[in-house]
Amino acid sequence: MTANADFHTHQLHTKQLHIKQLTISLHGETLLAIDSVIQPGEVLTVMGPSGSGKSTLLAYLAGFLSPAFKAQGQLFLDDQRLDNLPAEKRGIGLLFQDPLLFPHLSVGGNLRFGLPRQIHDKRQQVTQALEQVGLAGFEARDPATLSGGQQARVALMRLLLSKPRAVLLDEPFSKLDTALRQEMRTLVFSQLHEAGLPALLVTHDHADAKTAGGPVIELG
Ligand code: ADP
Ligand code: MG
Repeated sequence: MTANADFHTHQLHTKQLHIKQLTISLHGETLLAIDSVIQPGEVLTVMGPSGSGKSTLLAYLAGFLSPAFKAQGQLFLDDQRLDNLPAEKRGIGLLFQDPLLFPHLSVGGNLRFGLPRQIHDKRQQVTQALEQVGLAGFEARDPATLSGGQQARVALMRLLLSKPRAVLLDEPFSKLDTALRQEMRTLVFSQLHEAGLPALLVTHDHADAKTAGGPVIELG
């Protein structure tokens, strides 16, 4: 599972994500207030009880906040403002607790789906990505025949191949059994770190925050 240096070289000009004086309110009351800079390769962990606004924060950052909420503040990637861009133009990648692989596509098809259109050596990139997570030769497999941990690794590589500029993680390990969980944590955070991407992690699990190794914010 050693990382291939070439794979990341075109991704080294990574940027910081600045959540600038953000206040989100609901029915005229402040739900959450955050002012944070996430450095390239750093993971900011956001914790808090149910209803404290974790999903709302992710929806704001990703660009699909419900109009029921009012947001004040800005979101920047270095000096580029993101909060006034539609979701698909922000370049923010998401990783959820379910791998959400396309069931009608092979493992390779799922990974190719993540690749930007202008990439020419698609086959090689997919091969390398699978090698990087110990799934060499899995291109033709039906995702349904993979274990939960294998599916999670495919989802991670699909995310990274899509060349996001920042990553949001929503309870990404909560459905994995204990044995797999630590292995996936280590893999996900080392890959994000190596790719130099700023990331925001929402979790209930203190062990996630510990492995992420970055600052922790408690909501609510
Ligand atoms: P968490 O993810 O931390 O459990 P949420 O961000 O889902 O919390 O919810 C924060 C608050 O906003 C809760 O009080 C919830 O009921 C409310 N809420 C969530 N989504 C909506 C929505 N679309 N419209 C109105 N209120 C919502
Ligand atoms: Mg939630």
